[in-house]
Amino acid sequence: CGIVGVLGHHEAAPILVEALKRLEYRGYDSAGIATVENGALDRRRAVGKLVNLSDLLVHEPLAGKSGIGHTRWATHGAPSVYNCHPHQAGPVAVVHNGIIENFRELREELSAAGYGFTTETDTETIALLTQMYMEAGDAPVDAAHKTLAKLDGAFALAFLFEGEEDLIVAARKGSPLAIGHGDGEMFVGSDAIALAPLTDEITYLEEGDSAVLTRTSLEIRNADGALANRAKKKIAIDS
Ligand code: GLU
Repeated sequence: CGIVGVLGHHEAAPILVEALKRLEYRGYDSAGIATVENGALDRRRAVGKLVNLSDLLVHEPLAGKSGIGHTRWATHGAPSVYNCHPHQAGPVAVVHNGIIENFRELREELSAAGYGFTTETDTETIALLTQMYMEAGDAPVDAAHKTLAKLDGAFALAFLFEGEEDLIVAARKGSPLAIGHGDGEMFVGSDAIALAPLTDEITYLEEGDSAVLTRTSLEIRNADGALANRAKKKIAIDS
C-alpha cells in the first residue's frame, strides 16, 4: 500500500527501505524493492514486516543507486513472495498500488500474444504489456505510456527499466503520488511523509498524470498526454 522510488547519489536499497517504513502506517502484508545496477534489474522481496526484507538484504544485498520499492496489500493473489512487487517482465520492473479492473481482458490479450504468467496478481499484466511493447521496438517511456493507456482502474505506479539508470516513469489514477526534488536527485513516493528525510520540495501528480523522472528533470503529462505544469511546493514535515 505504498510506493517509493529513487534516482540518487547513494545506494538505493537502504533509502527505499527507510522510505517504505515511513509508509508502514498504511498497512501491508509484504514488501519488495528493485534496483538497476550496471544496466541489470534485480529485486528482493519478502512476506511480512519490512524487517524481513531488511534481513534478506543483509544476506543478499542489492546494489544500485536507482530503484523502486513497494509495500503490498494483496487484492489479487495471496501474500506470497512470487506475488510480491516489484513485478519484473524482461526489461521492466513495476510497482503498483490499487487494482487493474480490466486485468482479465489484458491477460487474454497477453496470452494470445504468447506471454505467460508467473503470478496471480493484476499487476503482472502491466509489466508484461510494457515488455511486449519494448520487444516490439518501443523505447521504455513510449512502452510505459502505451501500457498506461490500456489500464482501467485505480492505481499509482512506478516503472524501472533495464539499461536505464537515470529513468523512472510514474503515474497516478485514483491513488496519490508525490515527486520529490533533490539536489541532482529525484524521488517518488505515495506521499510527502515517505520522502520527508530526503527532500521538502514536492510536486504532486494530479489525477490521470504520468511523469518521466531523471535525476535532473521531471516531465509531467496530463491524462490527454499533453505536457502539464504542476507546482513545486515546500512541504514541512518533521522527519
Ligand atoms: N492489486 C495489486 C496486488 O494485489 C496491488 C495491491 C496494493 O495496492 O498493494 O498485488
